Amino acid sequence: MKILVSGATGYIGSHTVAELINAGFKVVAVDNLTNSSLESLKRVEKLFKCKIPFYRLDIRNKSALKKVFDKHSIEAVIHFAGLKSVNESILKPVEYYNNNLGGTFSLIEVMKEFNCKIFLFSSSASVYGNPQSIPIKENVPLSGSNPYSRSKIMIEQYLQDVFNTSDNYCLGILRYFNPIGAHKSGLIGEDPNDIPNNLIPFVSQVAIGKIKKLYIFGGDYETPDGTGIRDYIHVVDLAIGHIKALQVIMKKPQVLIANLGTGKGHSVLDVVKAFEKTSGRKIPFTIVDRRQGDIAISYADCNHANKVLNWKAKYKLDEMCEDAWRWQTLNPKGYN
Ligand code: NAD
Ligand code: UDP
Repeated sequence: MKILVSGATGYIGSHTVAELINAGFKVVAVDNLTNSSLESLKRVEKLFKCKIPFYRLDIRNKSALKKVFDKHSIEAVIHFAGLKSVNESILKPVEYYNNNLGGTFSLIEVMKEFNCKIFLFSSSASVYGNPQSIPIKENVPLSGSNPYSRSKIMIEQYLQDVFNTSDNYCLGILRYFNPIGAHKSGLIGEDPNDIPNNLIPFVSQVAIGKIKKLYIFGGDYETPDGTGIRDYIHVVDLAIGHIKALQVIMKKPQVLIANLGTGKGHSVLDVVKAFEKTSGRKIPFTIVDRRQGDIAISYADCNHANKVLNWKAKYKLDEMCEDAWRWQTLNPKGYN
Protein backbone atom coordinates (compact mmCIF):
# COMPACT_ATOMS: atom_id res chain seq x y z
CA MET A 1 0.00 0.00 0.00
CA LYS A 2 1.36 3.43 -0.96
CA ILE A 3 1.07 6.21 1.62
CA LEU A 4 1.75 9.89 1.09
CA VAL A 5 3.28 11.37 4.24
CA SER A 6 3.15 15.16 4.60
CA GLY A 7 5.69 16.66 6.98
CA ALA A 8 7.71 13.47 6.42
CA THR A 9 11.10 14.96 7.30
CA GLY A 10 9.89 16.38 10.62
CA TYR A 11 10.28 14.83 14.04
CA ILE A 12 7.18 12.62 14.18
CA GLY A 13 6.96 12.27 10.39
CA SER A 14 10.44 10.78 10.04
CA HIS A 15 9.84 8.26 12.84
CA THR A 16 6.52 7.27 11.29
CA VAL A 17 8.10 6.87 7.85
CA ALA A 18 10.61 4.50 9.49
CA GLU A 19 7.85 2.42 11.07
CA LEU A 20 5.81 2.40 7.84
CA ILE A 21 8.80 1.07 5.89
CA ASN A 22 9.48 -1.41 8.67
CA ALA A 23 5.87 -2.65 8.37
CA GLY A 24 6.14 -3.06 4.57
CA PHE A 25 4.29 0.05 3.37
CA LYS A 26 5.51 2.14 0.43
CA VAL A 27 6.03 5.79 1.29
CA VAL A 28 5.99 8.96 -0.79
CA ALA A 29 7.37 11.81 1.30
CA VAL A 30 6.55 15.52 0.97
CA ASP A 31 7.75 18.46 3.03
CA ASN A 32 8.69 22.10 2.41
CA LEU A 33 11.67 21.75 4.81
CA THR A 34 10.73 24.92 6.74
CA ASN A 35 11.26 23.13 10.04
CA SER A 36 13.29 20.06 9.16
CA SER A 37 16.16 18.66 7.16
CA LEU A 38 16.17 16.18 4.30
CA GLU A 39 18.95 14.40 6.18
CA SER A 40 16.29 12.75 8.40
CA LEU A 41 14.86 10.93 5.39
CA LYS A 42 18.34 9.99 4.17
CA ARG A 43 18.97 8.43 7.57
CA VAL A 44 15.74 6.41 7.30
CA GLU A 45 16.86 5.25 3.84
CA LYS A 46 20.20 4.23 5.34
CA LEU A 47 18.47 2.40 8.19
CA PHE A 48 16.30 0.30 5.86
CA LYS A 49 18.58 0.30 2.79
CA CYS A 50 15.81 1.70 0.60
CA LYS A 51 14.91 4.72 -1.54
CA ILE A 52 12.00 6.92 -0.51
CA PRO A 53 10.60 9.26 -3.18
CA PHE A 54 10.72 12.81 -1.76
CA TYR A 55 9.12 16.00 -3.08
CA ARG A 56 10.07 19.36 -1.64
CA LEU A 57 6.82 21.25 -1.85
CA ASP A 58 4.41 23.33 0.17
CA ILE A 59 1.23 21.30 0.55
CA ARG A 60 -0.81 24.48 -0.01
CA ASN A 61 0.45 24.35 -3.60
CA LYS A 62 -2.26 22.17 -5.13
CA SER A 63 -0.73 21.93 -8.58
CA ALA A 64 2.54 20.62 -7.10
CA LEU A 65 0.57 18.12 -4.99
CA LYS A 66 -1.46 16.99 -8.01
CA LYS A 67 1.74 16.15 -9.87
CA VAL A 68 2.72 13.83 -7.02
CA PHE A 69 -0.72 12.16 -7.05
CA ASP A 70 -0.48 11.87 -10.85
CA LYS A 71 2.86 10.13 -10.62
CA HIS A 72 2.10 7.77 -7.72
CA SER A 73 -1.03 5.78 -6.95
CA ILE A 74 -1.53 7.17 -3.48
CA GLU A 75 -3.98 5.11 -1.43
CA ALA A 76 -3.80 6.96 1.89
CA VAL A 77 -2.38 10.14 3.40
CA ILE A 78 -0.83 10.67 6.82
CA HIS A 79 -0.78 14.40 7.43
CA PHE A 80 1.88 15.76 9.79
CA ALA A 81 2.77 18.99 7.97
CA GLY A 82 1.99 22.04 10.05
CA LEU A 83 3.36 24.73 12.30
CA LYS A 84 3.44 23.62 15.92
CA SER A 85 4.67 26.26 18.33
CA VAL A 86 2.00 27.57 20.70
CA ASN A 87 3.95 30.75 21.47
CA GLU A 88 4.67 31.48 17.83
CA SER A 89 1.01 30.91 16.96
CA ILE A 90 0.04 33.75 19.31
CA LEU A 91 2.51 36.07 17.56
CA LYS A 92 1.70 34.85 14.03
CA PRO A 93 -1.95 33.74 13.93
CA VAL A 94 -2.31 34.69 10.25
CA GLU A 95 0.55 32.39 9.24
CA TYR A 96 -0.60 29.58 11.55
CA TYR A 97 -4.20 29.49 10.35
CA ASN A 98 -3.11 29.82 6.74
CA ASN A 99 -0.57 27.02 6.97
CA ASN A 100 -2.44 24.57 9.18
CA LEU A 101 -5.93 25.02 7.74
CA GLY A 102 -4.80 25.84 4.19
CA GLY A 103 -2.48 22.82 4.07
CA THR A 104 -5.23 20.46 5.21
CA PHE A 105 -7.83 21.91 2.79
CA SER A 106 -5.40 21.56 -0.09
CA LEU A 107 -4.58 17.94 0.74
CA ILE A 108 -8.23 16.92 1.12
CA GLU A 109 -9.20 18.74 -2.10
CA VAL A 110 -6.48 17.00 -4.10
CA MET A 111 -7.34 13.66 -2.49
CA LYS A 112 -10.98 14.17 -3.52
CA GLU A 113 -9.91 14.76 -7.10
CA PHE A 114 -7.91 11.53 -7.08
CA ASN A 115 -10.56 9.55 -5.22
CA CYS A 116 -8.24 8.90 -2.28
CA LYS A 117 -10.35 8.56 0.90
CA ILE A 118 -8.05 7.38 3.68
CA PHE A 119 -6.63 10.20 5.82
CA LEU A 120 -4.91 10.31 9.18
CA PHE A 121 -4.47 13.66 10.93
CA SER A 122 -2.06 14.83 13.67
CA SER A 123 -4.15 16.50 16.31
CA SER A 124 -2.99 17.38 19.78
CA ALA A 125 -3.89 17.13 23.45
CA SER A 126 -3.92 20.93 23.38
CA VAL A 127 -7.48 20.69 21.94
CA TYR A 128 -8.61 19.85 25.50
CA GLY A 129 -7.49 23.25 26.85
CA ASN A 130 -7.49 23.16 30.64
CA PRO A 131 -9.30 19.85 31.16
CA GLN A 132 -12.08 19.54 33.76
CA SER A 133 -11.15 16.00 34.65
CA ILE A 134 -8.05 13.82 34.51
CA PRO A 135 -7.26 11.40 32.85
CA ILE A 136 -8.63 13.03 29.70
CA LYS A 137 -11.17 11.10 27.65
CA GLU A 138 -11.80 11.81 23.96
CA ASN A 139 -15.47 12.74 24.43
CA VAL A 140 -15.02 15.84 26.63
CA PRO A 141 -15.78 19.30 25.15
CA LEU A 142 -12.84 20.82 23.27
CA SER A 143 -11.50 24.25 24.12
CA GLY A 144 -8.49 25.76 22.41
CA SER A 145 -6.71 28.51 24.27
CA ASN A 146 -4.38 29.70 21.48
CA PRO A 147 -4.33 29.89 17.65
CA TYR A 148 -2.36 26.62 17.38
CA SER A 149 -4.87 24.54 19.33
CA ARG A 150 -7.82 26.34 17.73
CA SER A 151 -6.40 25.49 14.29
CA LYS A 152 -6.38 21.81 15.34
CA ILE A 153 -9.99 22.01 16.59
CA MET A 154 -11.12 23.69 13.36
CA ILE A 155 -9.44 20.99 11.27
CA GLU A 156 -11.10 18.28 13.39
CA GLN A 157 -14.48 19.94 12.73
CA TYR A 158 -13.73 20.27 9.02
CA LEU A 159 -12.83 16.58 8.82
CA GLN A 160 -16.05 15.65 10.60
CA ASP A 161 -17.99 17.67 7.97
CA VAL A 162 -16.05 16.00 5.17
CA PHE A 163 -17.03 12.66 6.64
CA ASN A 164 -20.71 13.65 6.92
CA THR A 165 -21.12 13.38 3.16
CA SER A 166 -21.96 10.32 1.15
CA ASP A 167 -18.36 9.99 -0.02
CA ASN A 168 -17.29 7.20 2.36
CA TYR A 169 -14.18 8.71 3.87
CA CYS A 170 -12.01 6.73 6.28
CA LEU A 171 -10.64 9.33 8.67
CA GLY A 172 -8.46 9.17 11.75
CA ILE A 173 -7.81 11.99 14.20
CA LEU A 174 -5.00 11.20 16.61
CA ARG A 175 -4.55 13.47 19.60
CA TYR A 176 -0.93 13.27 20.71
CA PHE A 177 0.15 13.96 24.25
CA ASN A 178 3.88 14.80 24.69
CA PRO A 179 6.05 12.94 22.17
CA ILE A 180 9.70 12.60 23.23
CA GLY A 181 12.66 10.27 22.68
CA ALA A 182 14.24 9.12 19.47
CA HIS A 183 14.77 6.06 17.31
CA LYS A 184 16.85 3.34 19.03
CA SER A 185 19.42 3.52 16.20
CA GLY A 186 20.38 7.05 17.26
CA LEU A 187 20.07 8.02 13.59
CA ILE A 188 16.84 10.02 13.79
CA GLY A 189 15.52 12.28 16.51
CA GLU A 190 14.21 15.73 17.34
CA ASP A 191 16.28 18.57 15.93
CA PRO A 192 14.77 21.91 16.95
CA ASN A 193 15.88 25.16 15.34
CA ASP A 194 17.37 27.69 17.77
CA ILE A 195 16.69 27.38 21.50
CA PRO A 196 14.20 24.58 22.14
CA ASN A 197 10.76 25.39 23.57
CA ASN A 198 9.97 21.87 24.71
CA LEU A 199 11.23 20.29 27.90
CA ILE A 200 13.20 17.27 26.66
CA PRO A 201 15.22 18.98 23.91
CA PHE A 202 15.98 21.77 26.39
CA VAL A 203 17.07 19.32 29.11
CA SER A 204 19.20 17.38 26.57
CA GLN A 205 21.01 20.55 25.59
CA VAL A 206 21.63 21.41 29.24
CA ALA A 207 22.99 17.89 29.84
CA ILE A 208 25.39 18.18 26.92
CA GLY A 209 26.52 21.62 28.05
CA LYS A 210 25.09 23.70 25.18
CA ILE A 211 22.73 25.55 27.54
CA LYS A 212 23.73 26.45 31.10
CA LYS A 213 20.59 25.59 33.01
CA LEU A 214 16.95 24.65 32.81
CA TYR A 215 14.23 27.11 33.79
CA ILE A 216 11.36 25.20 35.32
CA PHE A 217 8.15 27.06 34.59
CA GLY A 218 6.28 27.08 37.89
CA GLY A 219 6.90 25.30 41.18
CA ASP A 220 3.53 26.14 42.72
CA TYR A 221 1.10 23.99 40.78
CA GLU A 222 -1.28 21.75 42.69
CA THR A 223 0.81 18.68 41.99
CA PRO A 224 2.82 16.54 44.44
CA ASP A 225 6.12 18.39 43.76
CA GLY A 226 4.62 21.68 42.52
CA THR A 227 5.80 21.28 38.90
CA GLY A 228 3.64 20.57 35.85
CA ILE A 229 2.61 17.03 34.98
CA ARG A 230 2.46 15.70 31.41
CA ASP A 231 1.95 12.41 29.59
CA TYR A 232 5.28 11.81 27.81
CA ILE A 233 5.07 9.22 25.03
CA HIS A 234 7.95 7.69 23.09
CA VAL A 235 7.88 8.92 19.50
CA VAL A 236 8.28 5.32 18.24
CA ASP A 237 5.20 4.22 20.22
CA LEU A 238 3.40 7.17 18.67
CA ALA A 239 4.57 6.20 15.17
CA ILE A 240 3.38 2.62 15.67
CA GLY A 241 0.02 4.02 16.84
CA HIS A 242 -0.34 5.59 13.37
CA ILE A 243 0.15 2.27 11.64
CA LYS A 244 -2.42 0.61 13.85
CA ALA A 245 -4.84 3.49 13.21
CA LEU A 246 -4.30 3.28 9.46
CA GLN A 247 -5.02 -0.45 9.52
CA VAL A 248 -8.23 0.16 11.47
CA ILE A 249 -9.65 3.13 9.52
CA MET A 250 -9.09 1.60 6.10
CA LYS A 251 -11.45 -1.27 6.94
CA LYS A 252 -14.60 0.88 6.77
CA PRO A 253 -15.75 4.52 6.45
CA GLN A 254 -15.55 6.20 9.84
CA VAL A 255 -14.04 9.03 11.84
CA LEU A 256 -11.82 7.48 14.45
CA ILE A 257 -10.70 9.81 17.24
CA ALA A 258 -8.08 8.53 19.68
CA ASN A 259 -5.72 9.84 22.33
CA LEU A 260 -2.15 8.66 21.89
CA GLY A 261 -0.42 8.79 25.24
CA THR A 262 0.77 6.41 27.94
CA GLY A 263 -1.92 7.27 30.48
CA LYS A 264 0.80 8.12 33.03
CA GLY A 265 1.76 11.58 34.23
CA HIS A 266 5.29 12.71 35.10
CA SER A 267 6.30 16.03 36.64
CA VAL A 268 9.07 18.27 35.31
CA LEU A 269 11.20 17.20 38.27
CA ASP A 270 10.56 13.51 37.47
CA VAL A 271 11.89 14.18 33.97
CA VAL A 272 14.95 16.01 35.32
CA LYS A 273 15.73 13.10 37.67
CA ALA A 274 15.26 10.50 34.95
CA PHE A 275 17.50 12.45 32.58
CA GLU A 276 20.21 12.91 35.22
CA LYS A 277 20.16 9.15 35.86
CA THR A 278 20.40 8.31 32.17
CA SER A 279 23.04 10.83 31.22
CA GLY A 280 25.08 10.72 34.42
CA ARG A 281 25.12 14.53 34.16
CA LYS A 282 23.75 17.09 36.60
CA ILE A 283 20.91 19.24 35.21
CA PRO A 284 21.15 22.59 36.97
CA PHE A 285 17.77 24.32 37.18
CA THR A 286 15.99 27.34 38.57
CA ILE A 287 12.29 27.47 39.26
CA VAL A 288 10.78 30.57 37.65
CA ASP A 289 7.25 31.90 37.08
CA ARG A 290 4.67 29.75 35.33
CA ARG A 291 4.73 29.93 31.53
CA GLN A 292 1.66 31.72 30.20
CA GLY A 293 -0.95 29.28 28.91
CA ASP A 294 0.51 26.20 30.66
CA ILE A 295 -1.80 23.96 32.64
CA ALA A 296 -1.01 21.98 35.79
CA ILE A 297 -1.80 18.43 34.74
CA SER A 298 -2.45 16.67 31.47
CA TYR A 299 -2.50 12.96 30.88
CA ALA A 300 -4.54 10.72 28.67
CA ASP A 301 -7.18 8.13 29.19
CA CYS A 302 -5.87 5.65 26.60
CA ASN A 303 -8.57 2.99 26.96
CA HIS A 304 -10.15 3.86 23.63
CA ALA A 305 -6.86 3.61 21.70
CA ASN A 306 -5.92 0.42 23.58
CA LYS A 307 -9.23 -1.19 22.64
CA VAL A 308 -9.98 0.12 19.16
CA LEU A 309 -6.42 0.16 17.83
CA ASN A 310 -5.19 -2.83 19.81
CA TRP A 311 -2.28 -0.58 20.68
CA LYS A 312 -0.54 0.33 23.91
CA ALA A 313 2.50 2.54 24.43
CA LYS A 314 5.28 0.30 25.71
CA TYR A 315 8.22 2.55 26.55
CA LYS A 316 8.72 3.99 30.05
CA LEU A 317 10.10 7.42 30.90
CA ASP A 318 13.62 6.05 31.56
CA GLU A 319 13.80 4.48 28.09
CA MET A 320 12.48 7.66 26.48
CA CYS A 321 15.26 9.63 28.19
CA GLU A 322 17.89 7.02 27.23
CA ASP A 323 16.90 7.26 23.57
CA ALA A 324 16.76 11.07 23.63
CA TRP A 325 20.23 11.12 25.21
CA ARG A 326 21.66 8.65 22.67
CA TRP A 327 20.36 10.85 19.85
CA GLN A 328 21.79 13.99 21.52
CA THR A 329 25.24 12.50 22.15
CA LEU A 330 25.56 10.91 18.70
CA ASN A 331 24.28 14.08 16.98
CA PRO A 332 25.38 17.05 19.09
CA LYS A 333 24.63 19.36 16.16
CA GLY A 334 21.42 17.62 15.15
CA TYR A 335 21.32 16.74 11.45
CA ASN A 336 24.04 19.24 10.53
P1 NAD B 1 7.90 19.15 12.89
O1 NAD B 1 7.94 20.63 12.77
O2 NAD B 1 9.14 18.44 13.23
O3 NAD B 1 7.31 18.53 11.55
C1 NAD B 1 6.35 19.20 10.76
C2 NAD B 1 6.89 19.20 9.33
O4 NAD B 1 5.95 19.84 8.47
C3 NAD B 1 8.22 19.96 9.19
O5 NAD B 1 9.14 19.10 8.56
C4 NAD B 1 7.87 21.16 8.30
O6 NAD B 1 8.95 21.51 7.45
C5 NAD B 1 6.67 20.64 7.53
N1 NAD B 1 5.72 21.66 7.05
C6 NAD B 1 5.12 22.64 7.76
N2 NAD B 1 4.27 23.33 6.98
C7 NAD B 1 4.33 22.75 5.75
C8 NAD B 1 3.67 23.00 4.50
N3 NAD B 1 2.79 23.99 4.36
N4 NAD B 1 3.98 22.22 3.44
C9 NAD B 1 4.87 21.22 3.55
N5 NAD B 1 5.52 20.92 4.69
C10 NAD B 1 5.25 21.69 5.78
O7 NAD B 1 6.74 18.80 13.93
P2 NAD B 1 6.38 17.41 14.60
O8 NAD B 1 6.72 17.50 16.04
O9 NAD B 1 6.89 16.29 13.79
O10 NAD B 1 4.79 17.48 14.50
C11 NAD B 1 4.07 16.87 13.44
C12 NAD B 1 2.60 17.16 13.62
O11 NAD B 1 2.18 16.70 14.90
C13 NAD B 1 2.25 18.64 13.57
O12 NAD B 1 1.03 18.79 12.86
C14 NAD B 1 2.06 19.01 15.02
O13 NAD B 1 1.15 20.07 15.19
C15 NAD B 1 1.51 17.72 15.60
N6 NAD B 1 1.78 17.57 17.03
C16 NAD B 1 3.06 17.62 17.49
C17 NAD B 1 3.31 17.51 18.85
C18 NAD B 1 4.73 17.59 19.40
O14 NAD B 1 4.88 17.81 20.60
N7 NAD B 1 5.76 17.42 18.60
C19 NAD B 1 2.25 17.32 19.75
C20 NAD B 1 0.95 17.26 19.25
C21 NAD B 1 0.72 17.37 17.87
N1 UDP C 1 8.84 23.16 30.82
C1 UDP C 1 9.73 23.78 31.67
N2 UDP C 1 10.84 24.37 31.13
C2 UDP C 1 11.10 24.37 29.79
C3 UDP C 1 10.16 23.74 28.93
C4 UDP C 1 9.04 23.15 29.49
O1 UDP C 1 9.54 23.79 32.88
O2 UDP C 1 12.11 24.95 29.36
C5 UDP C 1 7.65 22.47 31.39
C6 UDP C 1 6.31 23.05 30.94
O3 UDP C 1 5.90 24.10 31.80
C7 UDP C 1 5.39 21.81 31.02
C8 UDP C 1 6.34 20.64 30.69
O4 UDP C 1 7.66 21.14 30.92
O5 UDP C 1 4.94 21.62 32.36
C9 UDP C 1 6.23 20.19 29.24
O6 UDP C 1 6.40 21.32 28.39
P1 UDP C 1 6.58 21.17 26.82
O7 UDP C 1 6.79 22.57 26.28
O8 UDP C 1 7.62 20.16 26.51
O9 UDP C 1 5.19 20.58 26.31
P2 UDP C 1 3.68 21.14 26.45
O10 UDP C 1 2.99 20.22 27.39
O11 UDP C 1 3.74 22.54 26.93
O12 UDP C 1 3.17 21.03 25.07
